[in-house]
Amino acid sequence: MDFLKAQKMFWLDDAIGRIRQAAAQGRLPHSLLLLSAPGLGVESLAQWTLAFALCDRKLERPCGVCASCLLLKADNHPDALIVRVEEEAKQIKVEQVRALIEALTLKSYRGGYKVGLIEGAELLNANGANAFLKTLEEPTQDTLLILTANPNHRLPATVSSRCLRLKLRAPALGEARAWLNEHVGADRDWDAALALAGGAPLLACDIDAAGLAAIDANMRAGIKQLSAGEVDVTLLAEQWVRSHLQLRILWLENWITTRVRISLGVAESAPNGTPVRLPDTRVRAKICQLYDLLDSARQFRRLSQTGMNQQLALETLLQAGLGALSV
Ligand SMILES: [Zn+2]
Repeated sequence: MDFLKAQKMFWLDDAIGRIRQAAAQGRLPHSLLLLSAPGLGVESLAQWTLAFALCDRKLERPCGVCASCLLLKADNHPDALIVRVEEEAKQIKVEQVRALIEALTLKSYRGGYKVGLIEGAELLNANGANAFLKTLEEPTQDTLLILTANPNHRLPATVSSRCLRLKLRAPALGEARAWLNEHVGADRDWDAALALAGGAPLLACDIDAAGLAAIDANMRAGIKQLSAGEVDVTLLAEQWVRSHLQLRILWLENWITTRVRISLGVAESAPNGTPVRLPDTRVRAKICQLYDLLDSARQFRRLSQTGMNQQLALETLLQAGLGALSV
């Protein structure tokens, strides 16, 4: 693993600084919950923290050159235990968690820390989350448990409240644009990709690679066809589920927000001096429909990685949103 990558992402500086400071004061926590929306490099930060705890040098760690860092770079460190959802699985299995906990209670192979990392902890089911409750309550000396999760995670409060929580935030637009210009390329429309990515630079990069312009055109055409009755919800849902589903839902959320703004703009265009008029009934109804659809889209995105039937859920969303989608 390339655990030094996190140090190149300036928006992680604050979190890195806090971890360094806690360690300098001898208060490195036993459990750390890193909360982040997608595309902010939380995986890199988790790996950095893991390397930080394991590095043989106490100054300038993780150094990247000591025996421990070299083992990690080769993904071969006996005291680094990483759990993530298995391919084709929809949840992290309780057996995976149990194996991790058991390994954490054993003595460190290299005489230092033992570190467990659970990537995507929102994919733990209740049994999985409860399995390491005892580990959180009675941590063993020199162990660190790192969890990464979406801020909308449904981890039990008994778990999250026992961790030191660090929440990552997207950088300001100008800084994100400058970073992408420097690290990826200056010839793209980063503002459009960043708007869709909620300001997350790595997600903006993925969106750009997926072909933003093509998806944008395809989504506009799809909505137009749907409201004209030229395509039915089942067929459109099938298309969306097949490619870049998450990105399409993000696009839809963005599109709805813009429509709401346009609808509100109708009301705000009253001449100066006259009291602000509320939008008329028709516009108000439209705005309500749009907000309902926005709620559904957000809910869909939250749940879309929890093993729900995406096709069926998307059909329901589109069917209920037909009124809002008509342009
Ligand atoms: Zn090192």
